[in-house]
Amino acid sequence: MSVAYLEKLNEQQRLAVEHGVALVDGEVAGPLLIIAGAGSGKTNTLAHRVAHLIVNGADPRRILLMTFSRRAASEMARRVERICKQVLGANSGILTDALAWSGTFHGIGARLLRIYAEQIGLNVDFTIHDREDSADLMNLVRHELGFSKTESRFPTKGTCLSIYSRVVNSEAPLATVLNANYPWVSGWEAQLKELFAGYVEAKQTQNVLDYDDLLLYWAQMVSDPEIADDVGGRFDHILVDEYQDTNKLQSSVLIALKPGGRGLTVVGDDAQSIYSFRAATVRNILDFPNEFSPAAGIITLDRNYRSTQTILAAANGVIDLARERFTKNLWTDRQSEQRPMLVTVKDEADQANYTVEQVLANREVGMTLKQQAVLFRSSSHSGPLEVELIRRNIPFVKFGGLKFLDSAHVKDMLAVLRFAQNPRDRVAGFRLLQMLPGVGPSTAGKILDTIAADPEPLMALAEIPPPPKAGPDWTTFVKVLMGLRKTETGWPAEIAQAREWYEPHLDRIHEDAETRKADLLQLEQIASGYPSRERFLTELTLDPPDATSDQAGVPLLDEDYLILSTIHSAKGQEWRSVFMLNVVDGCIPSDLGVGTTAEIEEERRLLYVGMTRAKDSLTLITPQRFFTGGQHAQGDRHVYASRTRFIPVTLLQFFEATTWPQVSASASERSARQIRVDVGARMRGMWR
Ligand code: ATP
Ligand code: MG
Repeated sequence: MSVAYLEKLNEQQRLAVEHGVALVDGEVAGPLLIIAGAGSGKTNTLAHRVAHLIVNGADPRRILLMTFSRRAASEMARRVERICKQVLGANSGILTDALAWSGTFHGIGARLLRIYAEQIGLNVDFTIHDREDSADLMNLVRHELGFSKTESRFPTKGTCLSIYSRVVNSEAPLATVLNANYPWVSGWEAQLKELFAGYVEAKQTQNVLDYDDLLLYWAQMVSDPEIADDVGGRFDHILVDEYQDTNKLQSSVLIALKPGGRGLTVVGDDAQSIYSFRAATVRNILDFPNEFSPAAGIITLDRNYRSTQTILAAANGVIDLARERFTKNLWTDRQSEQRPMLVTVKDEADQANYTVEQVLANREVGMTLKQQAVLFRSSSHSGPLEVELIRRNIPFVKFGGLKFLDSAHVKDMLAVLRFAQNPRDRVAGFRLLQMLPGVGPSTAGKILDTIAADPEPLMALAEIPPPPKAGPDWTTFVKVLMGLRKTETGWPAEIAQAREWYEPHLDRIHEDAETRKADLLQLEQIASGYPSRERFLTELTLDPPDATSDQAGVPLLDEDYLILSTIHSAKGQEWRSVFMLNVVDGCIPSDLGVGTTAEIEEERRLLYVGMTRAKDSLTLITPQRFFTGGQHAQGDRHVYASRTRFIPVTLLQFFEATTWPQVSASASERSARQIRVDVGARMRGMWR
């Protein structure tokens, strides 16, 4: 059997790939931790390990592979398949439903919960709320409890949700989380407790789960040893990438599924831990050896294959200043003369112009748009650049920004499907019912109460007398929902039915109805790629498609496009050329946090993650001033910014520092001479 794919690996990588694979008699290897810096081939090694397991007879259907995004999961599955095919031949048959269990923690959780729903007292038709829906539900409960009325300074729905989420994910008491991360709201502790209790109850009666529930229910489910045994027994191997960004709930799930760690492989880099705001903890990695002592194998990788030596030196310089650090510095043999650029520009408009020009210049010398990316700390930072790209007709895709699904009309359409799936889902119900003429919040609330009390809510809906002003629209509404109830039309044709009902509403509400209709058609097309309504709703909610420069959100499949991404969403990826915007204090580190040492340290790691995405060329841009839209008194509409504190003077040696636009010596001399001539002529003229 050919092992060519093993020969491409270095010795440590190969050890990681082969670890315990050759055990006899179906024995499965003990727990393995691969801990190493950016670009050292962790993900690549993990893909090879999965392939190697399959090549050596592991059943791909019994492998669970978890990564942090669906994009990363499918990329990994593709790599595995490619390697396997090289060895086993294209028609080996073994891969027909290969890696059916690869995805995100949340996605896998949702699937398992549906399988075990009955056993754990969960209605199998549960719907999943995205963050916005969750915030809306939180708001409904807040209103019901009267907090928003009596307490005018009560935290916003978004803040309430973040606090709730952090408590759930960290398994820490509310008071602790408030003190550490939300000191300004700690006076509301009692009310928040009441609010969260109400929120949990609302979710349960409405049969909805939010993102956090997917982990929480999963962890609860496997705290029952019998179920844990059953779920764990489905998988011979569980492999997790980016382990540094998992939280305690996630690690407890893994430990419950594989108590002795047999068949468990986790991969991560403590220097890249950037999700502590979701209660991720680097302790998961650091505690792994103890948790599974003495069985755990530990392998470290120290060679970087991604970046040139100059880029790596700069990135190492930044992370060397971190307070705590466990992985060692990396080395590479990719030599380059070109140090990373540190470019000072006047403002954000110049930053956008400069970036576009460099991107185009790169394209001139043979770098496609897709091989380049522009990264930023916060999704809002790319605004001026997006405008410039659209103006110049340069296609782009933005990761981690506003999603296709966030637009109101797409959400409306999804609400139709969601309500049909689960008529107790109040957020979806409110959204839909209020589209009907003459139906306001109180009528909608009453209707939802009535039908929720019925064991067959949609049947109950059909029997409700139509609200006085709803007119014929009500009849069609009920008819469409009844049609969707038992999926009589069948998937995905039913989505067309929902669209037919919805489109007239669109005409009524929006001026740009035609563009929006195009979106709906596209949604229908996306839907046809999913086997069922339930899978479609679940997966879209968990990992929605990204926004593109084409407003319709077309995936731009064959086209060349530039990537715009938050640093968080750029995790695990690489591009030949990387630009980072707003590398200034206030943006990175962001001034939105509390400013604790832990937070600042996380921002440093974020910069490191961004820098280590670059293969051949890295450019950090620092605009000197920011427009603040007149928030400042006395007409001071700009604030001045300085280079990020993570690149102190001592690190400047690693960069090529310049300003843009560059005023070359000869150009400035010429213009000075020109002025002298002009002025001189005028002076002489005065006396003529
Ligand atoms: P990150 O920490 O950013 O997630 P990583 O450690 O997962 O990075 P990979 O993305 O797996 O690193 O690999 C980085 C690059 O190095 C990829 O382009 C990969 O193909 C390449 N690479 C990894 N191992 C080798 C190798 N043994 N020989 C040649 N190239 C390699
Ligand atoms: Mg990786």
